[in-house]
Amino acid sequence: MEQVFVIAIDGPAASGKGTLARRLAERLGYAHMDTGALYRAVAHEVLQAGGACGQEDDALRGCAALEHKIQEGLLGVTLSDPILRGDEVAQGASQVAAIPAVRAALIDVQRGFAKYPGPGYAGCVLDGRDIGTVICPEAPVKLFVTADVEIRAQRRMKELQSKGIGATYGAVLADMRTRDERDSGRRVAPLRPAEGSVVLDTTGLSEDEVLAEALRAVERVLDA
Ligand code: C5P
Repeated sequence: MEQVFVIAIDGPAASGKGTLARRLAERLGYAHMDTGALYRAVAHEVLQAGGACGQEDDALRGCAALEHKIQEGLLGVTLSDPILRGDEVAQGASQVAAIPAVRAALIDVQRGFAKYPGPGYAGCVLDGRDIGTVICPEAPVKLFVTADVEIRAQRRMKELQSKGIGATYGAVLADMRTRDERDSGRRVAPLRPAEGSVVLDTTGLSEDEVLAEALRAVERVLDA
């Protein structure tokens, strides 16, 4: 079997990494996995069961519920459920993500996807917080996408407004900072640029400019 070409993308919330991952995958005809949605799905299971996202037992029950859905072939529908996009689920996701046993439970599904993303795919794009550092450290292309926290909060505000969800800028900024601190400060798999990654600061860039820079990084590797 031909080796799958893996593009690993990491970065903080609302940095533009999700949009970039989706567009890169579309452009290159690669498969895409939004790994944050896995943590969100676990948090959603915990919240639905009335559990606490910071509690290991509850979180592991959430992992088991997700695993059950994966076995039933429901991974795709589960991860694209709009219910996962809310802020309560996002905060819960960063809590379950700080529990080492949860991270361990989600490794196989991510590495399995990177190895075999599906029939006909020569490559795949995974985006998250630890793809280049832990999940796929051997990926030939590693991107670290970042932007100023105020810009990221403004982007999140726009996204919420477009969905008709009311929120104040101050609250969104505070949530963003809390999640950044939890993701970067945790003991296991903290958010940081992987060795050999290309850092893309999207603060002053349009989505097209970010895509163009990422494609240049991919081409540099393919042409080498
Ligand atoms: O990317 P997204 O905002 O959907 O991720 C939700 C949460 O999941 C993040 O705040 C982070 O705590 C966690 N996460 C992670 N590792 C990943 C992807 C997401 O810890 N690879």
